[in-house]
Amino acid sequence: MADSEGPSDLAAGIRAGERRALARAITLVESGRVDHRAAAASLVAELSDLGGATDGALRIGLTGTPGVGKSSFIERFGLILAEQGRRIAVLAVDPSSTRSGGSILGDKTRMERLARHPQAFIRPSPSGQSLGGVARRTRETVLLLEVAGFDTILVETVGVGQSETLVAEMTDIFLLLIAPGGGDELQGVKRGIMEIADFVVVNKADGALETLARATRADYQGALGLLRRRAGDPSDVPTALTASAETGAGLETIWERIRALEDWRRHAGVLAERRAAQAVSAFDRALADGALARLTAHPSIAAEIAPLRAEIVAGRQMPEAAAVRLLDRLFKR
Ligand code: GDP
Repeated sequence: MADSEGPSDLAAGIRAGERRALARAITLVESGRVDHRAAAASLVAELSDLGGATDGALRIGLTGTPGVGKSSFIERFGLILAEQGRRIAVLAVDPSSTRSGGSILGDKTRMERLARHPQAFIRPSPSGQSLGGVARRTRETVLLLEVAGFDTILVETVGVGQSETLVAEMTDIFLLLIAPGGGDELQGVKRGIMEIADFVVVNKADGALETLARATRADYQGALGLLRRRAGDPSDVPTALTASAETGAGLETIWERIRALEDWRRHAGVLAERRAAQAVSAFDRALADGALARLTAHPSIAAEIAPLRAEIVAGRQMPEAAAVRLLDRLFKR
C-alpha cells in the first residue's frame, strides 16, 4: 500500500509513466480506508489540474454476457492497437462480483498475451464494491491511466445490475458483444443496452458459426435501424458488425469504425459535450451520496432519522413525505 509515499510522489511517478506508481495509486483509489480516501482525493486533485492534457485519450466501454468472448476480444483487439503504437489499458467494472478472488479479470489465463505486452496495462476489478463506489473508483482510475500516458482505455463489464449504464456513462464509445443466434432475451441482453450501444458486435463469426453470425448481424442491424440516431452522430451509427476474436476477422474494421466515430464526435463537439455531461452527473451523484452519508453520520440528525425509519417500517409514514419533512426541518435551522 502507498502509505510510505505521499500523493505528490505518486503523482510525479504517474506523470513519468512509472507502472509501480500507477499500480499503487490505483490501489489507493480503490481503498475504502478513510486515510487512503483522503490521500487519493488529493492525488486526484493534483492530477486533474492538468488543463485538458489527457483529452486526447479514447474511452471505450464493452459489455456482453459471460462466455460471449469479451476477454478473447479485448486481448486480440488490444494487441492490434498496441501494434499500431497505441497504449491500451483494460479495466473491469463488476460491482456484484462474489466469485472467489472476486475479480472477473483475476484469473491468470485471461488476456495473458496482452497482459505481457509492454504497451498494455490490465487491472483486475476489486470485489465487494457498491455501484456508487465502483463509479467513483473507475472514474478516478481512468484519470490515473490517462495521466500515465494510456491513450486507449477499455472498460469491460459483464452487465450485472446497472453496470453497463454506468460504464456507458464514463466512456466515449460503447460496444455490445453478442453471440451468433438467439434473440435478445435468449442472450440475456437487457432492454436499454441496445439503445446505448454504438456498435453491436456479433462475435464468433468463424467456422461453423459464421453463417449464423451473419444472419444475426442482419437481424440486429434491422433492430438498430428502428432506434433513433443520437444527435450529432453519423448516419451509419449505431450499427451491427461481425467479428471473430479467435481468427481476428473483422477486428481491424471495428477499430476503423470506432476511430471514424471518434473523429466525428470530436469534430462535432459531441465528445466534449458528452464528457462534460458525464462529469456533471458524477458530481451530482457524489453530492447525493455524500449528503446522505453525512446526514446519517451526524449524531443529532441520525437521532431523528432512526425513529423515522421505524415509523416507515411500521407503515405509519410514507417514505417520500417523511424525507421531505425531515429536510424541511433541517434547512430551517
Ligand atoms: P467472456 O466470458 O465474455 O470473457 O468470454 P471468453 O473470452 O472467456 O470466451 C468464452 C469462450 O468462447 C472461450 O472458450 C473462447 O475460446 C471462446 N471464444 C471467444 N471468442 C471466440 C471466437 O471469436 N470464436 C470462437 N469460435 N470462439 C470464441
